[in-house]
Order: sequence, then structure tokens, then C-alpha cells
Amino acid sequence: MIRKLLCCALLLALLCSGALAEERVVLDPRVQPAVALSFDDGPSEFTQQVIDLLTENDCRATFFMVGTNMDLYPDLVKAVYDSGNEVGLHTWRHNDLNEMSADAIVRNLQLCQNIVLAQTGATAKWLRPPYGRVGPSAYGACMALEMYIATWTIDSWDWKYQNAEKIYNEVIPQLANGAIILFHDTHATTVEALRTILPEIKARGYQVLTVDELMSFRESLRSGTHYYHLDLNKLAPLQ
Ligand SMILES: [Zn+2]
Repeated sequence: MIRKLLCCALLLALLCSGALAEERVVLDPRVQPAVALSFDDGPSEFTQQVIDLLTENDCRATFFMVGTNMDLYPDLVKAVYDSGNEVGLHTWRHNDLNEMSADAIVRNLQLCQNIVLAQTGATAKWLRPPYGRVGPSAYGACMALEMYIATWTIDSWDWKYQNAEKIYNEVIPQLANGAIILFHDTHATTVEALRTILPEIKARGYQVLTVDELMSFRESLRSGTHYYHLDLNKLAPLQ
């Protein structure tokens, strides 16, 4: 009987340790500083390389995808999700939300969600407005869809520089706890820049998270609301 109990206890311990090994450890940014990475405009031929670099460096990110590109590369939508990264929306055709009604935005984002749901079994929680443009119609649409809106704190200007060293020098000096960093997974030079940027961010002691992981430390999140960083004065009580 005792032997049987011991066996059960051992089995339970093994199962628990296995479960824990699978579980992602994300610390409160007051315990260890954190930033979120974000990649807009994909998926593209470069997305898999970005995923691989994130995995190699124990980093994660949110990919704000354009609907027409998800339609072209549905496997990459799944690959982003399956690798522990987050799928976010960036409208169907990189649309300017300030030129659309709330109803049109809802329909536009639902087209995107159909692909995300088909590929991942879940829907996206975060919207990145193209050009960072948001207004009342976007707020209303996101409230109706129970989505949050994220812009950014640090712009890498990667699409403009297309030079790994310049991208590095833009991002690294601006690193700060709670920041959301903007990249685009649509350029080879961004991939090249990540080869030095990711190890450097980690070496400086930061956790590199998805937008949703970073923002989960806020005391409250409201749908239809626009956030650009994790405000360290508005954190939930320490667990
Ligand atoms: Zn964009």
C-alpha cells in the first residue's frame, strides 16, 4: 500500500514538473524589468526568421498582421501562435482607421479574425492601428469587439533606415521598463538587426514579452482603449 502511494506521489511529481517546465515564467516588471516587442505589416517571407531568432533568445513578441498577408501566408499565422508569440491585428489592407466608420472597422477586423480563428483556434485581443492613427470610430469598433489598442513607445524606424546598425542605435539607448517597441517583419535588415538587439536587451536584464503579457500587469485594461506602454504607476498589486 505504502509503495503504491509512493508511486502515485512520484507520478504526480513528475507530471507537475512536466507541466511546470511547459509553463512560461513571466515576472512582474517590479521584480524584473520588461519590454514588449511588436512586428507590424507581416506575415512575410521574413517572419519565420524572426520567430526563430525570438525562440533562440528566449524572447517573445506580438505580430500585428495585415489581413491580406495572413491570407497569403496562413501557415505563418499558425507558426507565430504555436511558437508562443501573439497574433494581433493591423487591419485587412493596412487601412487608415480615421477614414472609416465604426461599422466598417468592425467588418474589416472580423475578416481578419476569421483567419486568426481558423489558424489558431483563438481570436486576437490587440489591434495596432496603421500609421498609429486612432479616433472615436476605432475606439467604438474595438469596444464592440472587446479588443484593446496598442501603439508604441520606441519606434525602431527599421522600414526607413534598412540598416542594422542604425536600427540598433535607435532602439538600444531608449530601452525602458514597460516600453513597447515597434519593428516590421518585412525587411531583411530588421532580421539582421535583431541578431544583435535581442541578445543586448536580454544582457541588460529585461524580459522580452508579448504586448498582452506586458499589459497583463496593469491594474485594469479596458476594451476600446489606446495604450502605448505599461504605465508603472498603474500596476496591479504585487502577487
Ligand atoms: Zn503598418
